[in-house]
Amino acid sequence: MGHWYEQRESAGGVVRITEPKVRALLSANVWWLRGADRDLVVDAGLGVVPLRAALPQLFARDPLLVLTHAHLDHVGGAPEFRSRAAHAAAAELLGRGVPASLYGAELSRQLGIPADGAPLPELLLKALPYPDYDPATYRIGPITLTQHLHDGDRIDLGDRSLTVLHLPGHTPGCLALLDEHTGELYSGDVIYDGDLIDDLPESDIPTYRRSLQLLADLDIALIHPGHGPSFPATRLRELTAAYLRATD
Ligand SMILES: [Zn+2]
Repeated sequence: MGHWYEQRESAGGVVRITEPKVRALLSANVWWLRGADRDLVVDAGLGVVPLRAALPQLFARDPLLVLTHAHLDHVGGAPEFRSRAAHAAAAELLGRGVPASLYGAELSRQLGIPADGAPLPELLLKALPYPDYDPATYRIGPITLTQHLHDGDRIDLGDRSLTVLHLPGHTPGCLALLDEHTGELYSGDVIYDGDLIDDLPESDIPTYRRSLQLLADLDIALIHPGHGPSFPATRLRELTAAYLRATD
């Protein structure tokens, strides 16, 4: 259980925490930024293994947690944080309890994933965190927020600040955080280097297109996405252009 999470220093001095034993669909990043006055954690993982027990140093400075959107692989560990923020449009779903299952068929049903695609793996973990772990017990309870975020809000960490960008499309409450000084963008599932998911019942393709068009026009240097490693702006422009072409 001690090796459930992996952490490594990524470009720009930010720490990327991953769950390598989770299958690709649900293997999301937790980003840890250490500020002069306060730490910021972007997203909270799947919540299969408590973060606080595995990575106590993450909590040493009582960080602010920002959730990029209300999907299980990004919010599972949220109840472990004292300060929890997300876009106001995600608050209701988080408060109700997000759909959550580690079984592909059950998760597809809960999320409303269209049946025409390839079915999800039977179990969305590659390995159990410990031998007698029962994936059937996995749940995400209601998550109440201590702060509602809106487009243009600023999060001040002392030596750096981040601007909230409301970028709906994948979900109505998707946000990204932009450090305008360094050009680093924490993008959640708005953009990552892979197939973007726009066919959930809560997704909206025209809205998603507007969000990606907005991103393509911003001064961004480096993207820290919700899934996979960081990538530079050149790749961001390729990805946004490809999506805008494919959905035209
Ligand atoms: Zn998502």
